[in-house]
Amino acid sequence: MSRYMSERFANLEAYVPGEQPQDMRYVKLNTNESPFPPSPAVLAALNRAEAEHLNLYPDPEGKILREKLAALYGVKTENIFLANGSDELLNFIFMTFCDQNRPVAYPAISYGFYPVYASLYGLPYTEVPLREGFRLEPGDYCGIHKTIVIANPNAPTGRTISVAEIEKILQSNPDNVVAVDEAYIDFGGESCVGLVPEYENLLVCQTFSKFRSMAGGRLGYAIGSKALIEDLDKIKYSTNSYNINRLTLAAAAAAIDSNDYYVENSKIIQENRAYTVAELEKLGFETLPSKANFIFTHCPKVPGGKIYQRLKAKGVLVRHWDKPEIAGYCRVTIGSREQMDVFLEKVREILREEGE
Ligand SMILES: *Cc1c(COP(=O)(O)O)cnc(C)c1O
Repeated sequence: MSRYMSERFANLEAYVPGEQPQDMRYVKLNTNESPFPPSPAVLAALNRAEAEHLNLYPDPEGKILREKLAALYGVKTENIFLANGSDELLNFIFMTFCDQNRPVAYPAISYGFYPVYASLYGLPYTEVPLREGFRLEPGDYCGIHKTIVIANPNAPTGRTISVAEIEKILQSNPDNVVAVDEAYIDFGGESCVGLVPEYENLLVCQTFSKFRSMAGGRLGYAIGSKALIEDLDKIKYSTNSYNINRLTLAAAAAAIDSNDYYVENSKIIQENRAYTVAELEKLGFETLPSKANFIFTHCPKVPGGKIYQRLKAKGVLVRHWDKPEIAGYCRVTIGSREQMDVFLEKVREILREEGE
């Protein structure tokens, strides 16, 4: 920190993204991207004519895309907010709905960006412990009078809670926003978007980065009551009115039109997930139940950090955290069948080498 930087950031620890090697040497199973390319319609939308319009600002309202998203989810356009990735959306949520009198609460083991935003805004925060087996207990969030952020499925565990349980949290905190981060909802989970018309305090957060194969396009969105979307808009228009670029708006509209393509891809991911879990089980691994495009797995014989290091040396990247409660585990993105077979082969090699 230079002597010019504001003192208020002295204790800020920035988020550390997963490794993004730029040389493609690795089988990359570390940041939950899709192994599938964007749909043909998305590739066609990113054409020369669109590029030729880059001299013009994009639509600050993203109206066409918001209309398509509204139709897809059965809500109104006024219920949709667009952001430059759901990371920006979460940033806006922490900025808009939390302060000294509205502390924030989120699970102690969850998406690593939540504590960073809490720190960035100097917020009072509560990290709610998970229960046995990394289970999130909905009762721990009932009537707590705090802004609540929950990832469902949770990251990096992959575990889910039910829509009925989310509803209980919403009902018992009517004066606080409950943000449900559904980055991984389309891999077999049940979205709580159907609760939006009933609960003014609900914000459902989703992203094009995982299910829709568009991590490089940076697009996230919230679905929520008109009141909450207007609040978010106020902050967005005080920050960056053109937060979604022209090419991403065009690509995303085409992605919504090819929803079936992504649903098919998700089925393949779910099959590959079941296959990988079953193969790992034969090797003695224990894997948490996952409804996401990743699994959280642990080998009783080999420490998580060692598995991560050895896989990396063999050209396979997975994610590992040194945090004591989860240091035994690795998070493995579910990719194509070919990628999973390479991963499994390298795991078998490591186990053989460890046995010697
Ligand atoms: C990947 C992820 C995000 C961020 O997604 P972007 O849209 O790429 O910014 C948000 N929340 C969770 C839980 C995630 O895993």
